[in-house]
Amino acid sequence: MDLYQSIRSLKDYPEEGITFRDINPLLKDPKAFQEALDQMVAKVKDIDFDHIVGVEARGFILGAAMAHELKCGFVPVRKPGKLVAEVIQKSYSLEYGQDSLEIQKDALDPGDKVLIVDDLIATGGTSKASKDLVEALGAQVVAFCYLIELKDLDGRKRVEPTPVYSVLQY
Ligand code: IMP
Repeated sequence: MDLYQSIRSLKDYPEEGITFRDINPLLKDPKAFQEALDQMVAKVKDIDFDHIVGVEARGFILGAAMAHELKCGFVPVRKPGKLVAEVIQKSYSLEYGQDSLEIQKDALDPGDKVLIVDDLIATGGTSKASKDLVEALGAQVVAFCYLIELKDLDGRKRVEPTPVYSVLQY
């Protein structure tokens, strides 16, 4: 099954010169959604980790479904002001703009091994900020897994030497 057929590409969104990859058509199609998850799970199933950290918002959809399949815990990394209890925060630059992410202080324990999941890696800024949050809690990021990787932006360089796995590449 060609999963590329299930990704909608929006030219010049949200800014001129940027092509936005919309995964909603894939999520809507049960066969494509299942196939995408199967391929993401296959890439990481032999790696040793105890938690998946999913990045708001599309990282929740894919990360939680993977956690169910792999029978591991799920921890959310969220936009500011969404998490209750004590948090730590990290600012980062996006492909277009600036933002912050938060994790709950008690979300992970020192020594925990974590797989970070999101829908897409572009510049790697979101991934690096998520990695910094996990490491600030004393846990270790063993790998990153994405549905889509925008190769030209070389985001994986930002998180070297941690391995990066992706199913679709543009
Ligand atoms: P980065 O921080 O530059 O790697 O951007 C990745 C983050 O921005 C992820 O959380 C993505 O969900 C979001 N993002 C950036 N570009 C796109 C896109 O083309 N489609 C969907 N999400 C995107």
